[in-house]
Amino acid sequence: MTGPVLEISRGAFRRNIAAVQRRLSPSDLLLVMKDDAYGLGIDWAVREASAVGVTWFGGYDIPTALRIRALTEQRVYAWATSSRGEIAQAIAADIDLGVGSAAYLDDVITEAETAGARVRVHLKIDTGLHRNGFRPEQWQDAIATAVAAERRGSVTVSGVWSHLSEASDAEDDAAQRVFLDAVAQLVAAGGEPEVLHLTASAAAWWRPELRGSLSRIGAFCYGIRSADGPALEGLSLIARLTAPVEQVGADAIRVGIGAFHGLPSILRGAQIATPGGLRRIIDISGSTLTVEPWAGATAGQRVVLFGPGAAGEPDATALAEHVDTVGEEIITRLTPAVRRLVVD
Ligand SMILES: *Cc1c(COP(=O)(O)O)cnc(C)c1O
Repeated sequence: MTGPVLEISRGAFRRNIAAVQRRLSPSDLLLVMKDDAYGLGIDWAVREASAVGVTWFGGYDIPTALRIRALTEQRVYAWATSSRGEIAQAIAADIDLGVGSAAYLDDVITEAETAGARVRVHLKIDTGLHRNGFRPEQWQDAIATAVAAERRGSVTVSGVWSHLSEASDAEDDAAQRVFLDAVAQLVAAGGEPEVLHLTASAAAWWRPELRGSLSRIGAFCYGIRSADGPALEGLSLIARLTAPVEQVGADAIRVGIGAFHGLPSILRGAQIATPGGLRRIIDISGSTLTVEPWAGATAGQRVVLFGPGAAGEPDATALAEHVDTVGEEIITRLTPAVRRLVVD
């Protein structure tokens, strides 16, 4: 191994999934796999998750959902508003669709009726985030349209869902009240939703009272903790980024990874794990970075930018906090120039 490598652990992923399932139970896990499973690779991850009993997968958009569908027979959910052509493909592939606007609901129903199929939809109530979703004042019309289509046989209203801001407990509590009221209205209109889902990683982990029967979890299954959040019991980052020492100088050591590999140049000053302990990044250029020296440094040694197994164990979120972003972003920004190696 000469260049930078992102080593991804199947075993750690399985353990995280088990820990998340235990913590969430009886709420079911819907494993979120957007951005190519947070930059870690959908293909191996779907197989691994199916093997340990994950029954719901989330792809964000329909093309991602179709990639997941090619790998598993389990339920696959896509919630990004999409084109008529993609809706038709999703229906043919038995994808559950998240729907948050009247225009999209009409498109989904039309495509199902054209295909002579029945599509499972999850209606999204806007609980305050204003990021797609039926506003409460639009909800009655939405459920009337969906329930009528259900009676005609072209739709099953399988779920009600929303997304929390996670800005404060009080706002999330208020959002849950709007959510539960929307569910009650659907039930009063004759709907029988199979699943209710409101929470992502942080709220599902820390606020059990907000969980529905399903929880959409991405970050925590990959072991990515929240920025400025505490360590998570039983979870560990499933990826480790390493790079080789290329040249040893008295004042600085040059390491073979840089901005072209997707490292933000503003990571200057962040700490990484070297064989001599934690050292600061002095500078980042295109394909290399320089680090404070340590005793006994030699070319070919490997430093750990994030991930378990190194002294000090910096994680992706620690790097992210240094530049005011989230751990997901550090990992998903890594370019194909970083070799991915999936290990047991
Ligand atoms: C990304 C996403 C999630 C997962 O969020 P995490 O914090 O990574 O668990 C859940 N729901 C929606 C709608 C998302 O876009």
